[in-house]
Amino acid sequence: MRIAMLSVHACPMAKLGGRDSGGMNLYIRELARDLARRGIEVDVYTRQRESDHPTIQEIVPGARVIHISAGPVSYISKMDVYDRLEEFTAGVDAYVKAEGLRYDVIHAHYWLSAEVARVLAPRWGVPRIQMFHTLGLVKREVMDEDVDGESDVRIAIERRAIHDSAAVVAASAIEAGELEQLYGADAAKVRIIPCGVDPEVFHPIRQADARRELGRDECEQMVLFVGRIEQIKGIDVLLKAFGLLFQRYPEQRGELCLLVVGGALDAEDGEAETEKIVELRRLVHEHRLEDTVDFVGSQEQQRLALFYNAADLCAVPSLTESFGLVALEAMACGTPVVGTRVGGLQTLVENDVSGLLVPAGDDAALAEGIARMLIDPSLRLRLAAGARERAKAYSWHRVGEAVAALYAELIQPVEV
Ligand code: UDP
Repeated sequence: MRIAMLSVHACPMAKLGGRDSGGMNLYIRELARDLARRGIEVDVYTRQRESDHPTIQEIVPGARVIHISAGPVSYISKMDVYDRLEEFTAGVDAYVKAEGLRYDVIHAHYWLSAEVARVLAPRWGVPRIQMFHTLGLVKREVMDEDVDGESDVRIAIERRAIHDSAAVVAASAIEAGELEQLYGADAAKVRIIPCGVDPEVFHPIRQADARRELGRDECEQMVLFVGRIEQIKGIDVLLKAFGLLFQRYPEQRGELCLLVVGGALDAEDGEAETEKIVELRRLVHEHRLEDTVDFVGSQEQQRLALFYNAADLCAVPSLTESFGLVALEAMACGTPVVGTRVGGLQTLVENDVSGLLVPAGDDAALAEGIARMLIDPSLRLRLAAGARERAKAYSWHRVGEAVAALYAELIQPVEV
């Protein structure tokens, strides 16, 4: 079996945590790796964005990334990627023809790739599977403005893709409900396949060892945030929550630190993100958090595992989250999460069993949740044990198994 995976704007080999690269990139890399181990060949088509990425890059034997030239070899906004989709589609088709390749299924990720699948699936005569990772209508509900100017076109493409695809993968029951209720998806087409975590990378180690390794022995208590530096991740709510926390517990100043992992601090990845960090630094100043908050930039996965282990808790204040890999990775390291009651986080974190959930966008509730966990070590220990236990249910192996079964089902429809 051979699969064409489409991920126009998220290269599975990209550095994670920068602008526009996070969970989806990792998901595609891990899924391709697992499928290849099962003997399913995977070609991931993505836009050439880095000059040092060769046209063809092997992920593992049997799974490779094929970079297609479409537009400048650099970061461009999603709407600029949208304007290049015809060029990208033609590039993929030409490559496939030139190499004499044949695929059994097209598996598209995100709304941008849905447009490419719409053209190529009928041309190649193969079924298509769609996964969105986030949905335009859900994002529109929680954001004050359409920062990327993409909403209308995105939502129209999503609707059409849901209608035309043979199957739509949702990362959680909540996302499945959104597909059905907001987009009118046919429930029989929607498959819930939760994301995974690699236990070889994310597992508990002694907190003191992790802190020493990171040179962070000076922190009495440590809260961690990991993610793309975007409004949707709720990082500004977290900074405001810290302001409130110190008003209520002034003695915590100097005792407590907040590490922010993610973001391209050196501005190599586009100006907008740097602007967001500048805006966050203003909030830091406003709430007198200069001695508390440390922006440490994006970190590769192995080192990220040290951060999760060094922390007393991981804050996941997202305004929406289709799954929430960061929460799962923290939990797999035995670090409890204070997260928001949104999207996949609600199905991943069981409130008061494997973490705490608070309403999204509510700085006071977030401050209270963080304080509760920091002040009460017995609560933290109980939730840490619950988190570790909960995380055992998720693996990339299971994702691969479910996705492979879906491919088989679509290729050989059951006779009636
Ligand atoms: N990540 C990383 N380094 C960073 C920041 C993030 O490797 O500096 C990874 C993180 O480990 C997680 C992913 O990026 O696997 C973020 O996924 P999540 O589902 O939390 O958010 P998304 O980016 O999909 O919105």
